[in-house]
Parts: sequence; structure tokens; C-alpha cells
Amino acid sequence: MAANKKILMLPGDGIGVEVMSEVRRLIDWMDKRRSVTFDVTQDLVGGAAYEAHGEAITDKTMDVAVNSDAVLFGAVGGPQWDSVGYDVRPEAGLLRLRKDMDLFANLRPAICFDALAEASSLKRQFVAGLDILIVRELTGGVYFGEPRGIENLPDGQRRGVNTQVYTTDEIRRVCRVAFDLAAKRGNRVCSVEKNNVMESGVLWREEASWIGENEYPSADLSHMLADNCAMQLVRTPKQFDVIVTDNLFGDMLSDVASMLTGSLGMLPSASLGPADDSGRRHAMYEPVHGSAPDIAGQGKANPLAMIQSYAMMLRYSFDMGEDADLVEQAVRNVLDSGKRTGDIMQDGMELLSCQQMGEAVTAELDELAA
Ligand code: NAD
Repeated sequence: MAANKKILMLPGDGIGVEVMSEVRRLIDWMDKRRSVTFDVTQDLVGGAAYEAHGEAITDKTMDVAVNSDAVLFGAVGGPQWDSVGYDVRPEAGLLRLRKDMDLFANLRPAICFDALAEASSLKRQFVAGLDILIVRELTGGVYFGEPRGIENLPDGQRRGVNTQVYTTDEIRRVCRVAFDLAAKRGNRVCSVEKNNVMESGVLWREEASWIGENEYPSADLSHMLADNCAMQLVRTPKQFDVIVTDNLFGDMLSDVASMLTGSLGMLPSASLGPADDSGRRHAMYEPVHGSAPDIAGQGKANPLAMIQSYAMMLRYSFDMGEDADLVEQAVRNVLDSGKRTGDIMQDGMELLSCQQMGEAVTAELDELAA
């Protein structure tokens, strides 16, 4: 049986708390039915931590996060904290987790469940069966590059500056993550940049090619300009398997890809750090959506993005692919049976609360594991 794995749960604010409760239900199910016991610690982050401690995450919680095998993160934020200082506002907790754990690779799957294909902005034929994974570099590039700032010019104008900058190591490590993940899927990687107008894009392409040729010769590597990739994602998205790209392009392309699948309440994500000598990586798993203050506390949240983030944790942090498959199959079956939360509701379907959706997933797991 698997040894205990240390998980830190940070539900955060708003619907983060509600969707995390449904993951807790799954963890209890795993404990009882699969004999997988997790050591779970739960703590505060975001606005909840600010109310209790005056900061968005404490050093003590950060310590637990860094020493955990995986962090499950709900969502942070809300209008009541809009006016608090930049350093202590809820999002600062999320940024600190990413920074202190060096979470440089952000994984955003775009999977279109057959039952939800009608909810996509594209026609069913283009999205049914869609399964792509975008790997976005998360800690470098134009969002962090120096120099940056806004300066006053002698002629009275102002000038805003940001710098796109990448090193060999930064490109290589995120490409390795993409190739490793591709090996477990279709083994096809599309590296995306703009080498036609950016030197950092030239370097990106050269380094991605180097990694492909020297370390993953059996993988199928292609290259695409970012603007073309945006177009191809809405033209024929199923041509892609794994896309690897920088921070800025990844930010945009992953949002485009996610909308192909319908609803924000269905989108999971993972962020991975560097591997240590034993191969263990810092990792955080979270839904793409925020704290949804408009529906918080009403039982209306869709917990499936959080539940699928949990499945990603099983797969990528604990190598429990079979259990991850089981959870994902349960989600698929629940949707096929016509059960829906409000955000993905369709005519003739059965409307469930957040808790009822969590219960439906575990009931389906009971069936699958019987
Ligand atoms: P949001 O993702 O919270 O909500 C956008 C819309 O989608 C809302 O109408 C909401 O009701 C709906 N929605 C989102 N998730 C849903 C779910 N699981 N089930 C059903 N409906 C869902 O984005 P927002 O409204 O722009 O931001 C609200 C707060 O969340 C802000 O304070 C923002 O800063 C914060 N935020 C946090 C994160 C994070 O913690 N990672 C991400 C985005 C936004």
C-alpha cells in the first residue's frame, strides 16, 4: 500500500471553501475504498488568512507548503479586500506560493467532455474528444524581466517598459516537463514563440530543438508562431497534443484553449517546480476559476474543476495514474448521466448543488470500483 503522502489544503475564500469540501469527500473515499491514506493539513490563505493574521499567507503555512508533497489550492479574493495593500491582499498569498516553491511549469489541460460539447463556442465536430495540454512557463519572461517600469521623458511624455528575457536553463527545464508529459500521451510537442520578430523567440526555438534532438529523440517536435497557434486553436484544435510556450503567450493561449471546452467551472490546472535528487517536485493543484463572490455561500459552485485538479495531483505528484483515471471517468459518467451544476446546466438535465455534485462523483466511484 502507498505510504502516507503529505498534502496541504488551502481552500482560501468564497467558493474555494465549497469546492475543496468536495475534494475532502474524495480523499475520504480513497482512504476507505483504495487504502490510500493522505496526511492532510488544512490552513488559511488569501482573505481568510488576512483576517486571521494580517497577511495573505504566514511563514508557518509557507513552511508546511514547502514540506508537503502537494498543495491543493481553492481560490482567493473578494470585494471586501479590494482596498487592502498590495503586499497583503489575497492574491499575494498565491504569488508567494508560486515564487517560494519555484513553480515554473503551469499545466492547463483543455479536455472537452462529450456531454458538454454543445457548451463550446465551436461546433461539436471541432471539439468533441478534444484533449490538449498547454505547458506555460510561469516564473520568467516579460512579467518578471528587468528593466521594467514607467518613466517620465524630458519632452513630457511617459514611457512604459517591460522586458522579455529567457535563459537557456529556463527554456530547457520547461521543455523537459512538456516532453516528459507528452511521453505519457501522444508524444507530440508543439513549441510556440515568435522567432520572426523576437530574439528571445529565436533562442526559445533553438533550445526547444536542442532538447528535442538530444534528450527526447523519439518525440515528435514541431514549432509554431504564437499568432498562428492562436488561430489554429480555434480552427482545428484537435491537431495539438502538448503545447509548450512562454509566460505571456501561455497566458493567452491557455485561456483561448480553455474556452473551447465550455465552462470555467470545469478547468483544472497544475503548477510544478524543479525535481530534487529523488525526483520529487514541489507542486500545486488548483482550479482556473476564482472565488466567485457572486455565487459564494449559495451551494451553486461547480466542484469539478477542483476535483479534476485533485486527479491531476494523483497523476503528476503521486504517479497514481489508475486512480486519476478512475476519478476522471467518474466525472465523465456523472456528466453523461445528465447531472449538472448551474454553470453547465442544459435543458432537460438535472440541476445539482455543489455538494450533490461531489456526492454524485463518489457514488459513481463506488460503481466503478465495485
Ligand atoms: P471568477 O472565476 O471567480 O468568476 C467568474 C464567473 O464565473 C463568475 O460569474 C462566477 O460565478 C463563475 N464561476 C467561476 N467558477 C465557477 C464554478 N466553479 N462554478 C460555477 N460558476 C463559476 O472570476 P472573477 O469574478 O473575475 O473574480 C472573483 C474574485 O476571484 C476576484 O477577487 C479575483 O481576484 C479572484 N480570482 C482568484 C483566482 C485564484 O484564486 N486563482 C483566479 C481568478 C480570480
